Amino acid sequence: MATRHGINWDKAQALQVAERNAFIGRMPRSRELSSQAAGHLLFGVPLHWMNDWSTPFSLYVAAAQGARFTDADGHDYVDFCLGDTGAMFGHSPRPVADAIARQAQRGYTAMLPSEDGVWVAQELARRFGLPYWQFALSASDANRFAIRWARAITHRSQVLIFNGCYHGTVDDVFVDLVDGQPQTRDSLLGQVYDITRHTRSVEFNDLAALEAALQDGEVACLLAEPAMTNIGMVLPQPGFWQAAQALCQRYGTLLLIDETHTISSGPGGYTRAHGLQPDLLVVGKPVAGGVPCAVYGFSAETARRAEEAKRNAPPGHSGIGTTLTANLLAMAAMRANLAEVMTDSAYQYMFGLAERLAAGLRGVIAQHELPWCVTQIGARTEFQFTATPPVNGSEADKILDSELEHIVHLFLLNRGLLITPFHNMILVCPDTTAADVDRLVAAFGDFVQQVR
Ligand code: PMP
Repeated sequence: MATRHGINWDKAQALQVAERNAFIGRMPRSRELSSQAAGHLLFGVPLHWMNDWSTPFSLYVAAAQGARFTDADGHDYVDFCLGDTGAMFGHSPRPVADAIARQAQRGYTAMLPSEDGVWVAQELARRFGLPYWQFALSASDANRFAIRWARAITHRSQVLIFNGCYHGTVDDVFVDLVDGQPQTRDSLLGQVYDITRHTRSVEFNDLAALEAALQDGEVACLLAEPAMTNIGMVLPQPGFWQAAQALCQRYGTLLLIDETHTISSGPGGYTRAHGLQPDLLVVGKPVAGGVPCAVYGFSAETARRAEEAKRNAPPGHSGIGTTLTANLLAMAAMRANLAEVMTDSAYQYMFGLAERLAAGLRGVIAQHELPWCVTQIGARTEFQFTATPPVNGSEADKILDSELEHIVHLFLLNRGLLITPFHNMILVCPDTTAADVDRLVAAFGDFVQQVR
């Protein structure tokens, strides 16, 4: 018998065949739409990653509301993927939907500020403790712009990242450590320059390597998630961030914290929950309730230096910003979302559910003596195919198993439960119920039962 990550691999593969057939049989409309799409959409999908799910063809969504959605064939799902965080506070939250409806009568974009931006910036300052803010349309853009500010402010070219990170489609961060050496990621399409010339990479939780990378004083910023979430979750070891921050300060490197996923830690992100003091901070995806928008904040000193850098630069385009940035619609949505949806009480509720979920998953794992573990960052939970949680990107990368993920995900999907593709991330939102969580835990238990 072949085993893999503690399960019977022959049984898992047989189960996958059965689940693929079940999916194909249940989804005539999604199948029909997929075949029509093949005529005019590259790879048959509006974004080529949409082919990377576990399904034999795309699952088409008809409507989504709160923690649920309905597919084109009329099946209902509990959504624990929530748009990979974009809908982390539920689909179409009522206050955001109302704000969008109101703003829809009052203009979408004018390349001029509206009152909402003033309120939003005050609220962001209150939440995150950073006094100055700018906007973007995606977290990728916000990270790109923040890097540009950091380089302009410090007059340094190097960016430092942690191996295995993801910060969106920011070219500078597509560097992997291969046998300890930085390399431009070979999957990157159409990239023609050697990214390692201006980007350094070290392992997460490795303070000695961090100091070695910083000490020549050439690094403009350390761009990092406070806990890694995109290669499976990797938590910082106790004291890591305190020491890492001190090193950044010692060598004059700006700390740029990307809270796009770790916003699951609380209303002010991991930064506020754990007392980090970044110079720059990015949040994207869910900040406007799922309407495209991202924000980035500056400490007082970083803001002063940014304004100085712009004033001292020759007149002309800074390379920062896009035409629809801070548009009227996104600002109205973000104001409603921050005021009424991303609230302290919503977080308290989500934390309780995530605890229930993590305990349930751990129970199944223990019962079947699987060499798996469960990691949590506030309202974000993940099961990983290792008994000991990884401490860095290389370790996390080794335990990823996309084939096994596809089998688990498809099994759950066929039972009306959607979790995040590419790893095993599970989100709960203010509309998720305890019964939804219990259903997911039970289905996870059934899966393990069938392949153990
Ligand atoms: N930062 C982090 C931490 C992310 O996880 C992601 C996307 N998964 C991004 C940035 C980029 O977000 P977007 O694709 O919305 O630009």
